[in-house]
Amino acid sequence: MDRGLSEWTDMVKGPRWGRVRDGVRSRLRRGAWYPVLSAGSHSVVLDVRGMSVSVHHAYLDLTFARPTRWSIVARPPDAGLMPESWGAWYAVCPGCAAREPVRQVTGTMACTRCDQGFHIDWSASAKPLDERTRPTPAHPHAA
Ligand SMILES: [Zn+2]
Repeated sequence: MDRGLSEWTDMVKGPRWGRVRDGVRSRLRRGAWYPVLSAGSHSVVLDVRGMSVSVHHAYLDLTFARPTRWSIVARPPDAGLMPESWGAWYAVCPGCAAREPVRQVTGTMACTRCDQGFHIDWSASAKPLDERTRPTPAHPHAA
């Protein structure tokens, strides 16, 4: 496979998928990838369930290839909708953006909503997340 040529073609086309970076406050769902409609010099326009939403480059992770891995997201203090049993992290499906509890450390985890299996590697995400979240543990009654 000519990976170099494929990357060059991707550069010309621009990034295809964007995800809000960890820790950025946004109305977009944490960990969810959205299709890129257009990319300007400062901001990227994402297709958020049919709505065009402009987000600054600095707040996004961008990728050329369709994401095929679960996003691992540190549970925010305001995650009131998620069951406590999910623990400190959850996974976001790269296909349908459903939120799922992290049920395994590595391998392929199936999404209960869209039924697709995607690679998960929690061992790579857990360490930086753990180091970052340890000094400020989520308080159950924090505002
Ligand atoms: Zn899914």
